[in-house]
Amino acid sequence: MHYHIILTKDCNLKCEYCGGGSDSLPGEIQYSIDELKQFISLDEKPILEFYGGEPLLRIGTMEQIIDSLSARFVIQTNGLLLNKLKYHYLKKFHSILLSIDGTKNVTDRARGTGVYDRIMDNIKLIRQREFAGDLVARMTVAQGTDIYENVMHLLTQPGFDHVHWQLDFEMFWEAWEHTVPGLQEWINSYNSGISSLIKWWVSKMERTGQVAGIVPFIGVMNSLLNGTDSHLRCGSGTDFFTIMPDGRISACPVSIDFDFSVIGSIYDDVPSSLPGKAEVGEPCTSCDIFRICGGRCLFVNRSQQLLRENGYEMICSTVRYLVKELQDALPQIQELIYAGVIEKSDFDYPEFNNGCEIIP
Ligand code: SF4
Ligand code: SF4
Repeated sequence: MHYHIILTKDCNLKCEYCGGGSDSLPGEIQYSIDELKQFISLDEKPILEFYGGEPLLRIGTMEQIIDSLSARFVIQTNGLLLNKLKYHYLKKFHSILLSIDGTKNVTDRARGTGVYDRIMDNIKLIRQREFAGDLVARMTVAQGTDIYENVMHLLTQPGFDHVHWQLDFEMFWEAWEHTVPGLQEWINSYNSGISSLIKWWVSKMERTGQVAGIVPFIGVMNSLLNGTDSHLRCGSGTDFFTIMPDGRISACPVSIDFDFSVIGSIYDDVPSSLPGKAEVGEPCTSCDIFRICGGRCLFVNRSQQLLRENGYEMICSTVRYLVKELQDALPQIQELIYAGVIEKSDFDYPEFNNGCEIIP
């Protein structure tokens, strides 16, 4: 299974949509690495994803964990300290999920002046240091973002293998201080940007035989091509759990302060006892596209009473639109596979749950 390891809630950025998250956790991990090892060793194929706050602020602890445990490693980072990762440890990562929101303007507006350039310098550096793993640009898409422009920007930057995004769900929160009018209008323009991106994505396949690394499209198209059902795609509560600094375990790395989410601890539980303790409920389980969407987000599903009026319907309308557009593109993609222009296996991504939630 896959485990987010929250190394600290400290962060070296103050992004507009984050605000630092929970204050309820200790700043440092309270368990010993031996205790973590004891818990993880009961899992046959563990994947550990370092998470924060900013995990590279605890680079020493991270190195100790890598040295002590046998697992596959992933990190989700804002990228500012990637230059501190030593060659030996850099090579240990299967994937790096790097938070960046798109163009320099868009990224710096949300994350701070100069952040974009520092990220880009560090990407160059880790590629020079022979990082050959999967580098995923992980966008937070806030209201107002031009999805087409920003995804295209990141896809054309040297260094990134894939681009993934999540809607900033704070914009759907009733109490969110930045809630601004015009959300429905923005959703309409977001959907139209999705149509343009899918059009470009398919035409690139036709022209070059390449499937560009747009994670939400690849993940959903993979299911459509294979006719497979999906559980909650981020895996929270199913095959993806979060170990907090105090050793408690949450189904999801974001909803760590919510009772529904805290389902055990590394002291009292074993990995095999965790799945199924926090699951998506209605309206998802009766939804006609549940099998393809999977319920999108456990946190939102279990705290829907906190959303603004029609918030859930608004989010779902984006999922429905995305799925419908990809279903419409399916015959064309099947033809390209049949003609040998692309391979069905081009859509076999991710190789394992690497922390991309697939459904934005
Ligand atoms: S579209 Fe909405 S209601 Fe349907 S499964 Fe997805 S999140 Fe749930
Ligand atoms: S999609 Fe929702 S449930 Fe899944 S990890 Fe993100 S916040 Fe948590």
